[in-house]
Amino acid sequence: MKRIACFCIPAHGHTNPMLPVAAELVSRGDKVKFYSFVEFEKKIRDTGAEFVSCDKYLPELSEKEEAEIKRINTTEMAIQDIRITLAMDEFLSKEFKEFQPDVVYTDSACFWGKLNAWKYQIPMVVSTSTFAFNQLSSTYMKQSPRELADMILGLPKIGKELKKLEPYGYHVKNALTLVQSDNQTESIVYTSRQFQPFGKVFSDLYSFVGPSVFSKAEPNKKKDRPLVYISMGTVINDRPDFYTKCMEALGNMEVDVILSCGNALDQKSLGTIPDNFTVHPYVDQLDVLSRADVFITHCGMNSVSESLYMATPLVLYPQTSEQYAVAMRTAEIGAGKILKDDSVSGIKTAVSEILQDSSYSMAAADCSAEFRACSGTAGAADYIESAPHTSNGEDFMKRLNQETGKFQLCFWVCAIILMILFAFLIGGKFVWIIGVAAGVVNHSLGKKVQIKAYNKLVKE
Ligand code: UDP
Repeated sequence: MKRIACFCIPAHGHTNPMLPVAAELVSRGDKVKFYSFVEFEKKIRDTGAEFVSCDKYLPELSEKEEAEIKRINTTEMAIQDIRITLAMDEFLSKEFKEFQPDVVYTDSACFWGKLNAWKYQIPMVVSTSTFAFNQLSSTYMKQSPRELADMILGLPKIGKELKKLEPYGYHVKNALTLVQSDNQTESIVYTSRQFQPFGKVFSDLYSFVGPSVFSKAEPNKKKDRPLVYISMGTVINDRPDFYTKCMEALGNMEVDVILSCGNALDQKSLGTIPDNFTVHPYVDQLDVLSRADVFITHCGMNSVSESLYMATPLVLYPQTSEQYAVAMRTAEIGAGKILKDDSVSGIKTAVSEILQDSSYSMAAADCSAEFRACSGTAGAADYIESAPHTSNGEDFMKRLNQETGKFQLCFWVCAIILMILFAFLIGGKFVWIIGVAAGVVNHSLGKKVQIKAYNKLVKE
């Protein structure tokens, strides 16, 4: 019997994949304590784990802070995470002393879970609810200039906030150490290594267990006419504009449509609902997906994984850079189409294309088979129970960096020669222009070289 402390941020998408794993651990006789929030109490208690409420440690947010969090401003989120860690310090110090966990199983974005595991030197397994993102796989994210600016300008602010943790015994080098998936951290990722972008660069400390779902039901697509399912997830789902466009696009098609619109939306704002639509605030998504033929999704990792698990091809409508990465990868394997034109006719065309072209459903079915061959929740539970693990030391990322290092050296030697020549011929005043241009070229060319080197190493 192991004592396992689970930690997660207050978000369904992050909590959901941990639940079947917690249930599996409980069924094996482990003592599982889940530190979470009242909104998730019922589903956590249903796993058999002990629920511990952390609600009183959530800070009161100003209107501005709340707005920033709603638009997924990573700096604001990191700052609030650090504040929660400080607020929970005394409480968790007592809890760790009393409970004496053998393993901490924590969401990758949950700073207080990670920081306390480090502080009390407890073996830690990180739950990665989206893809594992390192310098290579994050090239799949398409960050907007605003997101990039938020991130760059936010780093000093986060650094300042991190300093406040030091007197409490939490030592962190920088914000990246807390958020990036590195090859030394024991991690569970709820997908297959094949579907993970650049899956080979992640060390043997990564356990790719496939989608973490309660239902192991097989897909069953037999019915009179196609079923389309629409959901924008559980976070930013107040989108009457998009739902009404879907109604106009699909209302007169020969399909049935289930729309999960979230709790925040007043259904009256949708106007007259077409006869072939049924609208719910929340549905049993896996059950719907097992029957659905197309899923119009915001591309949350859980939604896409569940869809592929149920062999349902997707219309991909990402809203954040992380969701964009999931969309890109899904389109790359041929199981979905990115909705570039979100007008009424654009939606209609995308759904019709997926229904008519069987290559989408075949690619989704292949991915489903691949997911079902993963070790699943039992594999995740084995991995947690047997922590800590030691790596075989193979670090593909290191080899890759060595390969691309040669390119970087040549590139910057040439750039410096060019800058000297420029200064000599035209004068030193404008040399900075060459410097900036070299930086921009290096950024995009460097990525291409890295990807080429990756493909070469994979072949070897
Ligand atoms: N979900 C559900 N019913 C709904 C809508 C969503 O069960 O009507 C679940 C879905 O199965 C998934 C999670 O909520 O597990 C959404 O997570 P995801 O990562 O897709 O998106 P997020 O909500 O975090 O943006």
